[in-house]
Amino acid sequence: MGGKRKKRTKIIRPKPKLPKTFECPKCGKIAIDITFKDIDENDDSGRKIKLAKIKCGNCGLYAEIEVPKVFDEANAYGKFIDGYYNGTLEIKDTHEEEINDSNEDEREDKQLHSAT
Ligand SMILES: [Zn+2]
Repeated sequence: MGGKRKKRTKIIRPKPKLPKTFECPKCGKIAIDITFKDIDENDDSGRKIKLAKIKCGNCGLYAEIEVPKVFDEANAYGKFIDGYYNGTLEIKDTHEEEINDSNEDEREDKQLHSAT
């Protein structure tokens, strides 16, 4: 019989809850909030991507980046930081205006196919 005996102590460690708030590269406050929006698009290698919206609740910094669908907030934040310091990100300042998150229904598009 296979005499291989491996004693393996499984350390079950509950994953610490990832903080959903991150440090803002602009104002230095832990006030970056990241939300995802599903977009039906693929990147160059055919992977599904989604849109990460990064917003600072303190200084109003705002950016949107496309990330692979498997990204979580921490991943997206990392990419955001990279882009921020590389200058490849378009940073918007939303200090004055609120970002309208529910912009889904475009009123211009009235050509809804009528249900028959
Ligand atoms: Zn900030």
